[in-house]
Amino acid sequence: MSLKDFAKSLPHPLKQGLKYAYGAASSRFRYGKVFWDTYNFLQESQWWNREKLEEYQMRLLEKMLNHVYENVAYYQKVFDQSGSKPKNIQDFDDLRKLPYLTKEIIQENLSDLMARNYPKSKLRYGTTGGSTGIPLGFYHEKGVSEAKERAFIITLWHRVNFKMGDRCVVLRGNVVHSANKGKFWEYDPVNKYLILSSYHMTNEILPKYIAKIREFKPDFIQAYPSAITILARFMKKNNIEPFSSVKALLCGSENLYSWQRELLEEVFQCRVYSWYGHSEQAALAGECEKSTYYHIFPEYGMVELINKDGNPATNEDELGEIVATGFNNFICPFIRYRTMDLAAPTDAKCECGRNHPLLKRVEGRLQEFFVDRTGSLTTFTCAHKALWNVKDKINAYQYVQNEPGKVLLNIDAKSKFSISDIDSVKRTFLDFYPRFDIKIKFVEDIPRTERGKFRYLIQKLPIEFGDFQK
Ligand SMILES: [Zn+2]
Repeated sequence: MSLKDFAKSLPHPLKQGLKYAYGAASSRFRYGKVFWDTYNFLQESQWWNREKLEEYQMRLLEKMLNHVYENVAYYQKVFDQSGSKPKNIQDFDDLRKLPYLTKEIIQENLSDLMARNYPKSKLRYGTTGGSTGIPLGFYHEKGVSEAKERAFIITLWHRVNFKMGDRCVVLRGNVVHSANKGKFWEYDPVNKYLILSSYHMTNEILPKYIAKIREFKPDFIQAYPSAITILARFMKKNNIEPFSSVKALLCGSENLYSWQRELLEEVFQCRVYSWYGHSEQAALAGECEKSTYYHIFPEYGMVELINKDGNPATNEDELGEIVATGFNNFICPFIRYRTMDLAAPTDAKCECGRNHPLLKRVEGRLQEFFVDRTGSLTTFTCAHKALWNVKDKINAYQYVQNEPGKVLLNIDAKSKFSISDIDSVKRTFLDFYPRFDIKIKFVEDIPRTERGKFRYLIQKLPIEFGDFQK
C-alpha cells in the first residue's frame, strides 16, 4: 500500500477543513493532493508507537525493494549477484546484506539507477555535493518529491508553532538581482517571503537589512546558520535589539554548532530550530518542541548509523555515518545510501512523546566562509553552484583564499575547458559573490587533508569564529 493509499484509509477529521482553510495556495509549492495526503498522514503517524512505525517502515521497504527489483537495472544486478530476492529481506537486519550505494556508484551508473517505469516527463533533475568536489546529479519525481518534502518540512516547523501563511524572512543563499542597484531584498507575495541577499552582508549594508526586517515583521527567519551568524555577530557588536515578532529561527542545510546556537538565542531571544535533510531526500530528522535531539522521520526513510569499523553505531555519542534508504523517490531510488554525513545516536527518550529514533547531534555539511574585499564574511555554501554547468568535465575542485576579496579556484579537469566554460564558471561565481575577484587554475591533483577528507575551501585568512578554526 502506498503512503497515499495508507493515508486515505485513516480518519482525518481535520482534512477537509484544513484544505478549504488554506486553499490551493502557493505557486512554488502548490499545496496539491500529494502535499495534503502526506501532511494529513504525518499529523497522525508522528504520534504512533515504535511498533506501528516499524511495521509501517517495513511495508514501505518491501514496496521499494519489489519496485527496484522489477524496474531498476542496477538493483536487479545487485540482487542477482548476491543470489537473493526482495522476499529474502524480512527485517531491518536483512537489509544490511545489500551493499552500500555510494556517490561514486551513482555518478558512474546514473542511467542504470533510473526506474524504467517512469516517463521522462516525470523527471526533475537534482544535484548534491559529491565526494571529491564534483556535484552529483540524480532525479526526483516532478511535482511529487517537492510536495512530499514540503509536507514533511512544514510538519517539522509546526513544532515551533509555524503556521502555513506565516511571514518569513529568508536568508538561505539566494541571489537578489536588484542588489546591484542597492535593493538587497525581494518580496515573494505568494509565500509571504522577504528574501534577503546572502552576499551583501557588510557592516555598511547590514543596518539596511535590519531596518527592512523590522519593517517586515516576520514570524520566522529561515536561514543558513552561516548567514544568520553574520547578522547575529553584527547585532551583538552594535547592541541591536532583537526582532520582537520572530518566534524562531529555522536553520537547515548546514551544521549548527552549539556555540552558534547560544549566540543566535542570545541575540534573537527566540528558539533556534534545526533540522537535518539533504536534496537526495533519503533521510530527514528535526528537533522538537521539547529538545534539540534530531528526531528521525521513520515515514521518510530508514536511517542506519555505521561506525568506522562498518558496524552499527549504537553507543551514546558514538559517531557513525548516516546511511539512508529513502521511501519517497521511486524514480532514482537510494537504498543504503552513504551520505558521508556523521551523527551520534542517543538512548534518551524525548519528553515530546514521539517514538522516533533520536540523534544527539549531526555533523553534516561544514560551515565555511569567504572574506570579501571589505573584510566582511560571506557564506561559502553556494560557491559550488559556479561549477554545476561544467561538472561533467571535472574530477575535483577546490577554492583557496589568501587575501580578502580574492579567491583562487583550482580545477582538476577531466576534459579540456573551452573559453566559454571558463567564462561561465566565473560569471556564475560573480553572480553570487560580486565583491570578489576569481582566478581559475588547472591542476593535476587536489590533495586530501591528513585525515583523508576532501576540503572544498582552504581558507588561509584568520576567521575569528572559534569552532570554525579546524
Ligand atoms: Zn521530542
